[in-house]
Amino acid sequence: QGDIAISNLALNPRRGGPKNLPILEIFLDDDDDEDKKKQKEKPRLVILGGGWGSVALLKELNPDNYHVTVISPTNYFLFTPMLPSATVGTLELKSLVEPIRNIISRVKGHFIRASAEDVDFSSRLVEVSQKDPHGNEARFYVPYDKLVIAVGSSTNPHGVKGLENCHFLKDINDARQIRNKIIQNLELSCLPTTSDEERKRLLSFVVCGGGPTGVEFAAELFDLLNEDLTLHFPRLLRNEISVHLIQSRDHILNTYDETVSKYAEERFQRDQVDVLTNSRVAEVRPESILFTQKGPDGKSTITKELPMGFCLWSTGVSQTPFCKHLSSKLGPAQTNRHALETDTHLRLNGTPLGDVYAIGDCSTVQNNVADHIISFLRNLAWKRGKDPESLELHFSDWRNVAEQVKKRFPQAASHLKRLDKLFAEYDKDQNGTLDFGELRELLKQIDSKLTSLPATAQRAHQQGQYLAHKFNKLARAAPGLRANDLFDVDGGGDLDAAVYKAFEYRHLGSLAYIGNSAVFDYGDGWNLSGGLWAVYAWRSIYFTQSVSLRTRVLMGMDWGKRALFGRDLMSY
Ligand code: FAD
Repeated sequence: QGDIAISNLALNPRRGGPKNLPILEIFLDDDDDEDKKKQKEKPRLVILGGGWGSVALLKELNPDNYHVTVISPTNYFLFTPMLPSATVGTLELKSLVEPIRNIISRVKGHFIRASAEDVDFSSRLVEVSQKDPHGNEARFYVPYDKLVIAVGSSTNPHGVKGLENCHFLKDINDARQIRNKIIQNLELSCLPTTSDEERKRLLSFVVCGGGPTGVEFAAELFDLLNEDLTLHFPRLLRNEISVHLIQSRDHILNTYDETVSKYAEERFQRDQVDVLTNSRVAEVRPESILFTQKGPDGKSTITKELPMGFCLWSTGVSQTPFCKHLSSKLGPAQTNRHALETDTHLRLNGTPLGDVYAIGDCSTVQNNVADHIISFLRNLAWKRGKDPESLELHFSDWRNVAEQVKKRFPQAASHLKRLDKLFAEYDKDQNGTLDFGELRELLKQIDSKLTSLPATAQRAHQQGQYLAHKFNKLARAAPGLRANDLFDVDGGGDLDAAVYKAFEYRHLGSLAYIGNSAVFDYGDGWNLSGGLWAVYAWRSIYFTQSVSLRTRVLMGMDWGKRALFGRDLMSY
């Protein structure tokens, strides 16, 4: 590879690691400059990914303590909550992105535009691959003292056939492609050579997935069709256009409070968005979708075919190939199929040196909700002066416990509902009581699901901030310390636990835009839904959370421009 200089990083001609690849070194120029020497002495903090988790970490990290290198295939941070607005031109794509180098400059760090492929945990090397526009690939190692994995997630295909006929909404390029496809369909449907049947198909827009992303996209699409279509495409009839939302559960927004999801459904019904609940997509064909729908008796299923000109696949997330690889490499320490498991200090389970952290969508914290349920039950037994193992539990007791657990772990609400059902059935059979041992068995059945935190920007942001505060404290407690394993706290060696508390997720509520109205779910039964005022509140929240002044100004200008002139319906 030779000596490839990347700002003041360079590939050392010395090769090494398990694959004998070149190793990236810092400041090989041997400069006499004192500042540079000091910089070289600092522990190397390598961050994989430039999304919500990484940016929160970079924004809170003390700039003087670490030598920071960020590795990501994208050189911008994307403000995902507003991505659905960019698919229909309410906001411009450039208003949602911030160059990652601007954010890194605060900590005087480096950026490498590349993908992490593997990690050699024992020699502390990340294997990185960099592709040029001609497809040539360079592979090298980046050494670290501390590694943060924040690479996000992939779209979950759920094993459905024909997803090549769908659009996804994860990245800025997806939003661009969706926008072009919608406009292309509108243009094609206006051609004099297009038959009535073909026009109806082209104007049939299907969204698979009734979570917040699917719902917000359907709402934005509905806004576009209602507000700008007559102006730009006066020949198209509104009743020829249809928007369908296919949802496998019995409600859309099913992780939100029931009143919120009902409000959203009523709103969609009024706006003639066709919500198909209890429906599972079986196959996506180039011009139609096959799905099964539960009959009114809840048992029989009917297979239906829906002609479509556009399909968005937005049915949740799964592990990236990189994380799947790490998970299988770490063996039995990683038991979750959906995310990398960490301990409560966000350290990746199973790594030999305890210096690798995982945050955001790619990770799950072993919060062990089941343990909390059991400790609530122990308290209950104690209050009743009983031995927990012989506690007879009634359904009402369980409801009490479930309420307390829900307060502490709102993300477990939908799983607790399942436990409710299980419990009610059990309760019927057992004549109103259930003993502690039996409950433990029931909990085991769904324990792995109960441990997962929501895959949201809110969680990734909190975890990034948490790590920054911890790393700042670590640097103060042991300046220049390269790895925690060199430090022995009372023989225990857990420096992380000695300097900072464990991570605790605080649910601050969920928002969703549902077409000229918005819903807010703060958990604990607190929720709000409403029209225009709610839309402005929704916009203000995201406006303040936007990553920089530049993006805030651009977003404000876009909203103003749309109010005055409507959306630009051009594909490019
Ligand atoms: P991401 O933000 O996804 O960042 C991952 C980063 O890793 C990217 O920079 C990527 O390029 C990089 N990367 C990927 N692979 C590699 C690799 N091998 N090596 C190095 N780097 C890699 N959440 C909310 O809380 N509220 C919302 O309203 C909301 N709306 C959303 C709307 C949409 C359309 C989408 C897609 C998501 C939305 N989310 C929302 C979810 C939120 O975006 C994610 O939970 C959040 O982005 C997770 O942050 P992260 O840092 O884990 O990953």
